[in-house]
Amino acid sequence: MADIVLKVVAEAYINGREIMDTGVAMIGLGGDNAFCGSCGREMMHEMPIKAMLVNLLYQCSCGALNEVPHDS
Ligand SMILES: [Zn+2]
Repeated sequence: MADIVLKVVAEAYINGREIMDTGVAMIGLGGDNAFCGSCGREMMHEMPIKAMLVNLLYQCSCGALNEVPHDS
């Protein structure tokens, strides 16, 4: 399990990618913790985030769109 700071994506780079709203923290059964790259809020707790779709965008309650960094 690792703490992963997500990468903020500019709206110009959304390109129709699916956006998942994480206004309420998502809690999984095992995996990594993911933090907003803008405000630092924990968006996902113990989620198998690396096994999820790479191109998914996660919207924080601060409004920032985040993606999983490819080098994590
Ligand atoms: Zn945020």
